[in-house]
Amino acid sequence: MALALRLSSETVIDHHAAVALVEKMHEDHSASGPDSVSAGSWDFPLHYGSVSAKLQGSRIHLRVFADDDTNLSYVKMEVAAHASEILGSTSGICWSGQDNMPSLPVFFRQIAVVSSHRISPHMQRIRFQADNLDRYASGGIHIRLLIPSAGRKPVWPAIGPDGLIVWPTGDDALTVRIYTIRSIDVAAGTLDVDFVLHPGVDTPAANFAQSAVRGQVIGMLGPGGGDAPDCGNLLLLGDDTAIPAISRIIENMPTTTSARVFLEVDTQADILPLAAPNASITWCFRNGRPAGTAGLLTEALKGIDGTTLPSDLFVWAGCEFTDFREIRKIVRKDWCLPKDRQLIVAYWRRGVNGGDRTSSDD
Ligand SMILES: Cc1cc2nc3c(=O)[nH]c(=O)nc-3n(C[C@H](O)[C@H](O)[C@H](O)COP(=O)(O)OP(=O)(O)OC[C@H]3O[C@@H](n4cnc5c(N)ncnc54)[C@H](O)[C@@H]3O)c2cc1C
Repeated sequence: MALALRLSSETVIDHHAAVALVEKMHEDHSASGPDSVSAGSWDFPLHYGSVSAKLQGSRIHLRVFADDDTNLSYVKMEVAAHASEILGSTSGICWSGQDNMPSLPVFFRQIAVVSSHRISPHMQRIRFQADNLDRYASGGIHIRLLIPSAGRKPVWPAIGPDGLIVWPTGDDALTVRIYTIRSIDVAAGTLDVDFVLHPGVDTPAANFAQSAVRGQVIGMLGPGGGDAPDCGNLLLLGDDTAIPAISRIIENMPTTTSARVFLEVDTQADILPLAAPNASITWCFRNGRPAGTAGLLTEALKGIDGTTLPSDLFVWAGCEFTDFREIRKIVRKDWCLPKDRQLIVAYWRRGVNGGDRTSSDD
């Protein structure tokens, strides 16, 4: 398994809890793929690659593998995050091939605004230009946008010797928000992001989108979040924030896949053109009710007979936290759909800023 992956990096962990660390990582990823475990030796997959660990005396020699440098960086970060949790520190981790001085992450790009225009009353499309975008065309449609304080020369994050991100602090601190790449043109070096212009007192990403000017520079980390579900039958639900993701999913699905789509927006004026012959799209309107309070997606789901679902159905949803909880409850508890046939994510939560997001699809 490990040998099929092209790139590798290694470290030695000399800590009394090093075995516990490896066993915990193994336990957390036991469902991710084939593994091989014997006394003092572990080989198993992680999300973005794999790990091979050997007990040598009191120390663990740990080698990670991945198929490109972005994934290798993600795998190192994953190990370091586990180490931080289990060992209480990552100070003993120093990856081979990693500069001793913090360096710019390989999965970082500085992106500059090329154009910005309103595509519906509540959606602003911004086109960014950047170098070397090919890695962002696959392996996930989501990115983290890093927004520097207005008028301040950006200081970007770096990767430390342990593989973790070192974030700028104080006046250099960045606002981090998750968005979707709506479309990407690697040859032209451009990507589009659609920003919902939502209400709120302090809304750094929406504010950025509203006032962005040509040449303005922000940062981007990614990609992440996996690719579109590969299934014969899709049920897709989302509010305004998930329109970019759902658009990409239905535009790129094979002709053999069909999709039933429910999208919640404010009014008819917020409808966006979606080109997908095999998708049947229902727009649901809040008509002035605040986003995240109307429950229209849950209502749509309740209108579906859970006893006659196609056997290859995959349910995908991206929406506000309350809707996320309701949708997940119906899909998991009422419909009993297996975990590998659903991805239900809270894209945002009322009253909570995106940097403090605690919800996930777990
Ligand atoms: C995987 C993923 C992909 C996403 N993709 C997109 C995308 O492509 N386009 C997009 O617009 N958003 C997307 N989002 C949602 C986006 O990250 C959040 O809406 C984010 O909170 C916006 O940041 P902000 O700085 O504008 O507001 P924040 O500072 O995060 O929040 C300030 C206040 O505004 C409220 N708020 C946040 N978002 C909304 C909203 N949509 N409607 C009403 N109130 C809101 C918050 O509850 C809070 O009270 C995505 C989220 C995830 C997790």
